[in-house]
Amino acid sequence: MRAQVLEQGGRPLRLVERETPRPGPGQVLIRVRACGVCHTDLHLVDGELTPPRLPLIPGHQVVGVIEAGGEGTGRLRPGSRVGVAWLHEACGACDDCRRGLENLCDRVRFTGFHVDGGYAEQIIAPERFVYPLPETFPDAEAAPLLCAGIIGFRALKVCGAQRGERVALFGFGASAHLTLQIARWRGCQVDVYSRAEEHRRLALELGAGWAGQAGEAAPAPADRAILFAPSGRLIPIALRALRKAGTLAIAVIHLDQVPAFDYALLFEERVVRTVTASTRRDGEEFLEEAVAARLRVAVEPFPLAEAGRALDLLREGRIRGAGVLLPA
Ligand SMILES: [Zn+2]
Ligand SMILES: [Zn+2]
Repeated sequence: MRAQVLEQGGRPLRLVERETPRPGPGQVLIRVRACGVCHTDLHLVDGELTPPRLPLIPGHQVVGVIEAGGEGTGRLRPGSRVGVAWLHEACGACDDCRRGLENLCDRVRFTGFHVDGGYAEQIIAPERFVYPLPETFPDAEAAPLLCAGIIGFRALKVCGAQRGERVALFGFGASAHLTLQIARWRGCQVDVYSRAEEHRRLALELGAGWAGQAGEAAPAPADRAILFAPSGRLIPIALRALRKAGTLAIAVIHLDQVPAFDYALLFEERVVRTVTASTRRDGEEFLEEAVAARLRVAVEPFPLAEAGRALDLLREGRIRGAGVLLPA
């Protein structure tokens, strides 16, 4: 099979020929039809996040079809279309898993980080951690749901957004454009902050009530805010946009810095929380709501061979919605 391989952070990916992986006990072999391009992949390629092993095939928003199953599998038949997300596997036995926080499991393994991911023609994953996918979404559109979508969904949970509240989104890429639609579906008002005019236009098209740049004032203070851009300087700006006792959720895996800021921005019971990966339950709930809300997924397709170009465009903030690799 062909695969894009990361040999070292700070160096471009290399397209190589690899042996087809063999599914072990509990695992299924999946033929990849689409794999979303995520900021996390970019952090790996740029050397801002170091994976536990190299070389590594990145990619954790994988849509494909089951080709074969290892010992003990069979819940999903060969030919079933499934999704593989960032949560590759959790132990199920540690304190965090038992609390329903398998995203924080001590022995958690992430797709395209601890194990090879979906920038390839085939991938293996534990059957218990793959999602049957709703038919409503074609392959390319389904891919960004698997990280961008699920993480945004968890961020809405973590910030505690309630029906009818005002939610501010900072940064407007793959995740925010899906989160915006879920929030609208729940009757929330949404303000979007983005540097790129193209992104602000897409936000308004998708139902944002207001779109502007960081530092500009939305018409009213937000009840909740979510930070999607990996830029810590936005934290005080987001806190300034929040009402008293409002909550800011930081939904990025890597942040350049947490700047010092005036205590007055936190005082009056404002809350800052982080979002770390997601649970299977988040994924299942989100996919259900994605169908009900009829999410429109904005996608820019790239052949597998052009993963490097897709990542360059993502770095420059020039992808409208989500970038998706199509190996076929
Ligand atoms: Zn991701
Ligand atoms: Zn665990």
